Amino acid sequence: MRHPFACFTLALTGCCVAARGQSAPPAPAPLTAIRAGTLIDGTSDAPRKNQLIFVRGERIEKVADAAEKIPAGAKVIDLSSATVLPGLIDSHTHIFLWGEDPAKGGYDANILKAGIALRAARATAAARRALEQGFTTLRDVETEGAGYGDVEIKQAIEEGTIPGPRIFGATRAISTTGGYNLEGYAPELEMPKGAQIVDGPVEARKAARQQLEHGADWIKVYMTHRSWVDKQGNLVSQPTLTVEELKAIVDETHGWQKKVACHAYNGIGMQRALDGGCDSIEHGLEMTDAQIAQMARQGTWYCPTLAPYYGDWAPADTPAGKRDRARAAVHEITFKKALKAHLKIVYGTDMGGIPWSEPIAQEFKRMVSLGMAPMDAIQSATSRAAEMLDMKGEIGVIAAGAYAEVIAVSGDHRGVGRSAEGCGRTRTRAVCDA
Ligand SMILES: [Zn+2]
Repeated sequence: MRHPFACFTLALTGCCVAARGQSAPPAPAPLTAIRAGTLIDGTSDAPRKNQLIFVRGERIEKVADAAEKIPAGAKVIDLSSATVLPGLIDSHTHIFLWGEDPAKGGYDANILKAGIALRAARATAAARRALEQGFTTLRDVETEGAGYGDVEIKQAIEEGTIPGPRIFGATRAISTTGGYNLEGYAPELEMPKGAQIVDGPVEARKAARQQLEHGADWIKVYMTHRSWVDKQGNLVSQPTLTVEELKAIVDETHGWQKKVACHAYNGIGMQRALDGGCDSIEHGLEMTDAQIAQMARQGTWYCPTLAPYYGDWAPADTPAGKRDRARAAVHEITFKKALKAHLKIVYGTDMGGIPWSEPIAQEFKRMVSLGMAPMDAIQSATSRAAEMLDMKGEIGVIAAGAYAEVIAVSGDHRGVGRSAEGCGRTRTRAVCDA
């Protein structure tokens, strides 16, 4: 066990246990038996009472009723007063981003004021914090100007140098000229960009090849950039890559048997994302019925990231304030339509855009408040995300053969929305930190 059953306090409230096994110890591996008062296994519709989880090495050997005999010599962890779940999966994070608070210099300060060592130290803290809050896997969708740093943080975790979750990294991300920060500086200045900038299908394919060569597990693409409210009151988003550019990236990435995550808000960029064959839509603030039908047909994953659109609104009578309110308004409608259409929804927070000091479980509250069943919300952060990551049966589930990534919380699934709310901004450190 690389990270032996460390105790932490999870955002869902209560004291928790994390088992995060990685490197296989020499045989025979010792046996651990975890008593679960209530077990939510990540795939079943209902919790089960009084279960025993047998762990050998880094994997779960079997799950049985509490009456099952525990072999002599097995280590017993008693969680009979807790609810036990698979380690959670956040499918949209940025460990290299340290908030975008305008008072602290906004997004730009991440790149202009912090050197790479400071950024790596912060990413290390973010990784540890995710693990402490019960998130044992992250799909980290770009480093925001920190190059291939995610690949190296992942390496440091895998070699046991630092504690952290399993990471699926997207490295640098791809957008177009005029399609990403830093921007708004004097045109004479050659400013660094938070993503790799390409123009044309040849450059697009080359960027994908470079990122895949250097260890990207996913490719992240920005299909929209700026957004604003037009004279009719509609949310409008500036499209970035063309369908031809995106198709070159998707074709290249699929050849490596990897997938493409597409940031897309709405409109032209959203349509290009779907026509170009994106595997997951990130944010997806506003989708037409036809676009939702296209996602269902193509099997596209939807990672809505509701939470970040409720914070830091500009004043209501300003263009930015109107935009902020329009984003949240259309997002709610789209999320409800996506639920109705049974789109494949995965849990994502956009942590990094949200300061890492905030609770990572806050997205549960948003999903449930908009009509998602609590157990469905849990599965969006367990087995469903595992399927998107091609790790079905290995993570996001408590069953024989899966990695022994186990967390425990007080309460049960019916309290998901409520408990996560109780872990809000005002009580962050007291309730949610390790
Ligand atoms: Zn993001």
